[in-house]
Amino acid sequence: MKEKIVYWLTGSQTLYGAEVLERVALHSEEMAAYVNERMPVTVKYLTTCKSSEEIVRAVEAVNADENCVGAIVWCHTFSPAKMWIKGLNLLRKPLCHFATQYHDRIPYDTIDMNFMNENQSAHGDRELGYLLARLRKARRVIVGHYRDSDALSELASWCKVAAGIAFSESVKVCRFSDNMRDVAVTEGDKVEAHIRLGWQVDYYPIGDLVEEIARVTERETDALLGEYAEKYVMATDRTDVVRQQAKYEIAIERFCRERGGYVGIVDHFGALHGLDQLPGLAIQDLQGKGYGFGPEGDWKTAALGAVMQYMAGQKGTGLMEDYTYDLKSELVLGAHMLEVSPQFAATKPEIQVHPLAIGGKSDPARLVFEGIAAPEAVAVSLVDMGNRFRLIVQKIECVKYPKKMPALPVGGIMWKPKPDFKTGVAAWLYAGGAHHTVVSTELSVSEIVDFADFYGLETVVIDEKTEIGIFRRQLSEHDLIYG
Ligand code: MN
Repeated sequence: MKEKIVYWLTGSQTLYGAEVLERVALHSEEMAAYVNERMPVTVKYLTTCKSSEEIVRAVEAVNADENCVGAIVWCHTFSPAKMWIKGLNLLRKPLCHFATQYHDRIPYDTIDMNFMNENQSAHGDRELGYLLARLRKARRVIVGHYRDSDALSELASWCKVAAGIAFSESVKVCRFSDNMRDVAVTEGDKVEAHIRLGWQVDYYPIGDLVEEIARVTERETDALLGEYAEKYVMATDRTDVVRQQAKYEIAIERFCRERGGYVGIVDHFGALHGLDQLPGLAIQDLQGKGYGFGPEGDWKTAALGAVMQYMAGQKGTGLMEDYTYDLKSELVLGAHMLEVSPQFAATKPEIQVHPLAIGGKSDPARLVFEGIAAPEAVAVSLVDMGNRFRLIVQKIECVKYPKKMPALPVGGIMWKPKPDFKTGVAAWLYAGGAHHTVVSTELSVSEIVDFADFYGLETVVIDEKTEIGIFRRQLSEHDLIYG
């Protein structure tokens, strides 16, 4: 992400004279350089803003730079906010209002009116805060000294999300099937997703992929099998079945790359004409490399998965599907039929071949592993409420399998929902959360909320503080607000 840039804009005005403004610029440069060392993206001081014209020019630079993913704004001195109106109205990228200071302590023994004139963030930031509130501008407010580790970690989170938003604008999903017959929650308005989130979802007949598979050479297949041998344990002697999955993977990846840069993939176990097996191992390995995936025509989960994978640095993130409960231990078992990402593996994944009791195809090769334990993870679902999208974010705790499941040869994870099993499941159901989610052990609730806030998406959070009565009232209020 370091090739992505966030510009640092400092607010001031001409009132204080050249000498003060020179120090304001020097301080800003020093602060941005310090912050830059600790961010996943590049943070660069752009300018000190002293007039409406300067702010418009600065914002135009932010908008025009294709590597720039957002702007940090901070007021070193007072910066009358009417001069920010035109510029902020033009800003199209994520904004962070960093309420920080050059000094951390007040110099009690020497503080005088000159110091007050030069250092008045508490004064200037309030003027900016009012205007941002008045403009209803989406932004993240972060408070703290620029060397404070908590403030820096919040800022790093925001930078990651800003880069994720830029990535989201370019997300393309290739879909080899329409929605599974009769299934409701995987449906949705693709035009609205394109308008709101930038997601382009294209359909291709499965026959186009079958032609691509036929073009894959034995040499290419050998090379991918070599990669499998490094990453996984070959626990089958049915090499021909594994080779077939390797061919699917090579063909899908080439299809994605050559037909316009798709980062999300969608298939459907009921629409595999011309394929012998359901792509299992192939889809798992592709998710391992960072692709988003949605089964049964689910393009929303594929697109969300691609965005979350990007933000998570392609770690601990992928499709999950809530299958069955252990009501005694209060756990959810998540697995799909086959397509769980090896990013969730706690044990080295084994390539195995077994029958699949659905879809009527040959036995597919798949990766089999136990899922990781993680004290904090998120499960995220995007649903279409008819007049808007709703993003549901649940905090979960991934736990070690309480017992082995030798007769279930798939990848999976087990988790406890927050705040507790019964409240967490009930809240998810009241909110209309899907059985397909994207789970991430790398991303936090606040990062998902920041992402949604930029787009003005309705977001509901289920975490330690969720109380079911308040949660239900919030859903009713949302129907009024967004209705
Ligand atoms: Mn499903």
